[in-house]
Amino acid sequence: MISKLKIDCKKCSGLCCVALYCTKTDGFPANKEAGTPCKHLDSDFCCKIHSRLADKNYKGCLAYDCFGAGQRTTQLYLPDGTWKANSEQKDKLFQIFMIVYQLHQMLWYLVEAFTLTSDELLKSTIDLLIYESGQMVQQPMDHIAMLDLSEYRLNVNNVLKQISTDISSKDTSNQFHALNYLGRNFKKANLDRKNFSMSLMIAANLSGCSLWKTNFLGADLRDANIKNADLSNSIFLTQMQINSAIGNSYTKIPINLTRPATWEK
Ligand code: SF4
Ligand code: SF4
Repeated sequence: MISKLKIDCKKCSGLCCVALYCTKTDGFPANKEAGTPCKHLDSDFCCKIHSRLADKNYKGCLAYDCFGAGQRTTQLYLPDGTWKANSEQKDKLFQIFMIVYQLHQMLWYLVEAFTLTSDELLKSTIDLLIYESGQMVQQPMDHIAMLDLSEYRLNVNNVLKQISTDISSKDTSNQFHALNYLGRNFKKANLDRKNFSMSLMIAANLSGCSLWKTNFLGADLRDANIKNADLSNSIFLTQMQINSAIGNSYTKIPINLTRPATWEK
């Protein structure tokens, strides 16, 4: 299941480099409207400057991860593998990509959530949500483009909230209530089972921290220092969070994630 949620750009048609709205301030080469191809996208849907993204400091490109939605959309809805040959359907395809992205993102969390609980009722709720996701993603183009995910998202959020509450530290003397940890220095702190979900942690210093079962659900880790930190048992981390943080060869990451090539050796 997890392998389907990992990007495989060779089986995609550069969907993120076309479908998304991008800005220079978010670390992309230029401001561009959704639906417009990036000027660096080659005719074979590879990035012409892939090997130079780090030198150019295009952090947005380096960090982006679609949870496998790009290749899934390409394989399911583009039998000839290219949106160029489907110009009439192009906008709908990009819309579908965004829906599949949301479904894959929720699936990513649900798969991990299943491993974090021993509550049988909760496990069967998660099973059902995973099944429903599979059903939705296989619908015909016209149906999937019109999907309203709000109720499904609410059900997924309820599951994630319950699991987060069950796992987080009950030590109220040491609870974190704020959501804003912008640039906060936590160096070498014991942050085991702390709940940082939805927190702003841009440029926070987590170097050398102990992060056992620390919850990073939706936390913004751009430029967070995770050098020498052990995140191998942290929960609800995504590849995009890891890609956007600054680690080194001593940083430990969860087994289902990939170490960014840009981290110092
Ligand atoms: S949409 Fe995903 S799979 Fe496709 S090119 Fe972008 S990151 Fe790669
Ligand atoms: S620079 Fe490359 S990776 Fe970044 S948006 Fe353009 S084509 Fe995609």
